Amino acid sequence: MGQQLRSEQISTRLLLLMSIIILSVLLIAIPQIISSYQQYRISHQAVLDIQTLRVFAETSNKISRERAPTNKAMSSTTLEAQKNINELNKYRSEVDQQIDITVKTLNRAGFTELAKRVDQQLKYDLGNARKHVDVYLALPKEKRTVQQMDQAILGMFGAWDSCRTLLQQLVMDSKKRNKEVTDYASMVLILADLRDQAGRVASNIMAPLSFSASFPEKNKLRSLQTQEQVKYLWQLLDTIQPESLKTQDYLNLHQQVKDRFIDQGLSIVVKLLQESDLHQPYSITANQLTDAMVGKFTTVVDLQTYLLEMQSLDAQEKASASHQQFLLTLFTSLISLAVAMFTMLYTRKKLFEPLIQAQQMIVELSKSHQREYVGGVDLTYKEAQTLNDAIYILKEMLQQRDVFEFKLKNMANTDSLTGVSNRVALDAFLNEYATEPQLFQQLSLIVVDIDHFKSVNDQYGHILGDLVIAQIASCLQANIARSELIVRFGGDEFLIVLKNLKQDWLIQIAESILADISQLRFDLPGTDEKLKVSVSIGIASGAENWEALFSQADESLFKAKAQGRNKVVV
Ligand code: GH3
Ligand code: MG
Repeated sequence: MGQQLRSEQISTRLLLLMSIIILSVLLIAIPQIISSYQQYRISHQAVLDIQTLRVFAETSNKISRERAPTNKAMSSTTLEAQKNINELNKYRSEVDQQIDITVKTLNRAGFTELAKRVDQQLKYDLGNARKHVDVYLALPKEKRTVQQMDQAILGMFGAWDSCRTLLQQLVMDSKKRNKEVTDYASMVLILADLRDQAGRVASNIMAPLSFSASFPEKNKLRSLQTQEQVKYLWQLLDTIQPESLKTQDYLNLHQQVKDRFIDQGLSIVVKLLQESDLHQPYSITANQLTDAMVGKFTTVVDLQTYLLEMQSLDAQEKASASHQQFLLTLFTSLISLAVAMFTMLYTRKKLFEPLIQAQQMIVELSKSHQREYVGGVDLTYKEAQTLNDAIYILKEMLQQRDVFEFKLKNMANTDSLTGVSNRVALDAFLNEYATEPQLFQQLSLIVVDIDHFKSVNDQYGHILGDLVIAQIASCLQANIARSELIVRFGGDEFLIVLKNLKQDWLIQIAESILADISQLRFDLPGTDEKLKVSVSIGIASGAENWEALFSQADESLFKAKAQGRNKVVV
């Protein structure tokens, strides 16, 4: 019961340990997964926001560009008026479509408030500006004035300003939502401004030019102001553009804006301003100026498109990298978790469970044997609950078993009456020589037989006979070193096997045995007399095998008996 409880405790601890390790892996992995997922969400949102900004920037461009067909319609001769008005209407519906797309895109990206303002306010402001243009276009040619046309142009400026306010709002909202778009958003605003100001350079002198009137001071000022503004924005753009992103394409496009728009395009306007100051006839008409300028600032639009494209691609790359990073983090975290779990389960199954089982078995074993084997070790079952105790008990048991086995072995090899070896031990000894018979040459054998022993038994009884046999055996042991073999071969016959001994020594040993035995005295019950005994001894050494050796010794013994006993015969 207590044993089972202990195994359960180990299992519970193991489970707890596994849970702690898995929890630790989770604690490391989960924040990483969350943070990389957040990074992915942010960069994905940045792509969406950048796309929204691009769509809005496109709308701003289109509203700005609407001034070109508007100016052309207002500056056209009677002949080309209808054609230009048709073109204007076509372009206006294109702009309207773009505004609707913008509203949808804003809603999709979550800028619902701004979408509403674009849908209502921008459409209203643009509609209003168009109304002024339409009123002007509806006037008969002779009733039109420079101021009216200029007012209509300023009205279109106003519509773009309204668009720019909303674009700025989008930029601010995007920056608040997402730090990734900060640089990009500022660039969008500058590019939108550059595109619009570039257009205004010509639009500011369009009305007086179309009436072939000299430019009023305010128009001149407005035109000069926008020229400066364009140059400033062109330089600002170059300052903001990070050095790392100034690719060869960027540098080419930037240079083209300078060559074609700032140098060539603006110089057309500058020339017209000079012609106005000198009251000279203008070298080009208003519509020619519009066409020329539109052609020139395609370079501005190209630069703008390139930069927007590049920024957008950059954002997409970042988003895709963070997406990959997220997947990688998720993957590695799951792998780490799986490896941790697998290792835990594997360790539990292959290491701990067998260990627990082994412990159970050991303790069970010690429990079942402790009463018999622990002996002097005072261990109670309760104390033997730990593995150490169980192992200790087992060790005790094994030691006891070894002693027991040793005793058994000894008993099997020893003659119980005399304590010398018996025939079993002699057989075992001879078995060792069986593989190397040449060793028999080094062996010597002494056979000792008690003289007239039968009559000892007959006269004084077996008990005294046994005593005589035991005393003679002790005498033999006293004369022979421990390592040699002494065997009680028959009832009153002993064999002594000796190794590497010269004959002199053998005879000396045999004589010494003979002398010692002749000194023995045995009490005879009921009398003061003492019993004396003698032995006859036969010696043999160096034979081919055991049988030969034994036969020689036996022959010598026979001779000793025949020659009157109490003798050593070689
Ligand atoms: P010899 O001098 O020719 O040897 O005469 P012996 O009387 O000794 O003749 P033998 O050796 O043939 O007799 C051996 C006797 O030893 C026979 C038997 O009664 C006796 N004997 C054999 N084993 C035991 C024993 O274990 N105890 C006792 N007391 N006597 C035994
Ligand atoms: Mg005898």
